[in-house]
Amino acid sequence: MTTIEIDMEALRRRYDEERDKRLRPDGASQYVGLTGRFAHYLDDPYQPVVDRPPVTDDVTFAFVGGGFSGLLVGARLKEAGVADVRIVDRAGDFGGTWYWNRYPGAMCDTASLVYLPLLEETGHMPSEKYAHGPEILEHCRRIGRHFGLYDHALFHTEVTGLEWDADRSRWVVTTDRGDRFTAQFVGIGTGPFPVPKLPGLEGIDDFEGHSFHTSRWDYAYTGGDASRTPMDRLPGKRLAISATRATPAPSGPGRAPGASPCPAGPGSSARTPPPR
Ligand SMILES: Cc1cc2nc3c(=O)[nH]c(=O)nc-3n(C[C@H](O)[C@H](O)[C@H](O)COP(=O)(O)OP(=O)(O)OC[C@H]3O[C@@H](n4cnc5c(N)ncnc54)[C@H](O)[C@@H]3O)c2cc1C
Repeated sequence: MTTIEIDMEALRRRYDEERDKRLRPDGASQYVGLTGRFAHYLDDPYQPVVDRPPVTDDVTFAFVGGGFSGLLVGARLKEAGVADVRIVDRAGDFGGTWYWNRYPGAMCDTASLVYLPLLEETGHMPSEKYAHGPEILEHCRRIGRHFGLYDHALFHTEVTGLEWDADRSRWVVTTDRGDRFTAQFVGIGTGPFPVPKLPGLEGIDDFEGHSFHTSRWDYAYTGGDASRTPMDRLPGKRLAISATRATPAPSGPGRAPGASPCPAGPGSSARTPPPR
């Protein structure tokens, strides 16, 4: 049997060096705030916002965020007999990360059978070892349908306030759509990347070309779609991708160096599985 000597000190130093390369003294302030001329990076390119009257009722459980966290909590509550679970999300549907991140080739990098929740309960068998985004998004919708979570959900709605009303023993939940409803319990699962992060690139303030964030992929501009139809509107365009995290360039025709940035960063990191 061969014995392998490991220099633990050297290994630790190596990890420290790699970590230090990624630590920045400016921290989160390196990113550009999504206000003013950058506010459009928050817009939902996938579904139009539909008018609705404000909601003022009372529910047993309200949950902020309709990603895996909200779906799992909602499903388990339903199984436990709580009929009125309300999930609220800025997005137009369930999915969280997978609602927003529809860039070409997006896929999970944890094996689907481990990563996708509630497979047995919903009867879904993933089609790939590392499922692509559209399948994961559809699975989120399947969970929503299977557990009746659409019944009370509020989409395209941002929770702006949570206040405990001690007299009524209720949370008062307020939103950017004028809702003011109450809940006995509140849960929060707003995810690791609640908003896209724009890198503070020199020139981003006065860039006049077309730009978008990878978590709001603009297929109307690039052509193609999330199911990997070729991006047929790119040829002839000059394209730049700014990546602040593990963000491989998307594949597709017409990829060329130059302008038209697609800022990418934490909150939209384009992920691909590790080589196996
Ligand atoms: C491209 C990509 C690939 C990934 N792949 C993997 C993987 O393979 N394995 C892994 O373990 N992890 C992966 N992750 C991490 C991923 O974020 C988690 O796995 C998981 O999806 C997070 O679920 P969540 O419900 O906690 O948060 P999210 O999915 O981020 O959902 C949070 C939701 O909260 C909403 N929200 C936030 N604030 C408010 C508010 N005030 N009011 C209303 N709604 C609000 C947001 O709109 C969002 O929809 C990946 C992430 C990305 C971006």
